[in-house]
Amino acid sequence: MDKKNLKFFENMLQKRLEEITSNINLRNTSLMELYTANLKDQSDIVSATLQGELDFLMLQKYGLELKDIIHSLQKIKDKAYGICEMCDDEIDIQRLKIKPHAKYCIRCRELHEKSKNRIKK
Ligand SMILES: [Zn+2]
Repeated sequence: MDKKNLKFFENMLQKRLEEITSNINLRNTSLMELYTANLKDQSDIVSATLQGELDFLMLQKYGLELKDIIHSLQKIKDKAYGICEMCDDEIDIQRLKIKPHAKYCIRCRELHEKSKNRIKK
């Protein structure tokens, strides 16, 4: 992926991160300090989010997405962004525009969903 696109998705992810954290922070001002602090210890932030005093529904709604977004921002830094984590192919850019924190290409996503459903049954 070229730099221009990377920047684009980085902005998009950061915006979404701010959106989610400001929603969460409406209820928990102490988390605000964590998020506005440097993102350097990301695992701390994730565990603070997951173990904090958020109510369950909020957690369910935002927790996983937040984790994926932080993960994606890390991948941008590691120059691994936009690469499917299962087959190492590039993830379609149109797909990333809808879901910038996607981990898998569309094919692997479908396979993943199918295998998850199989386990459930
Ligand atoms: Zn794939």
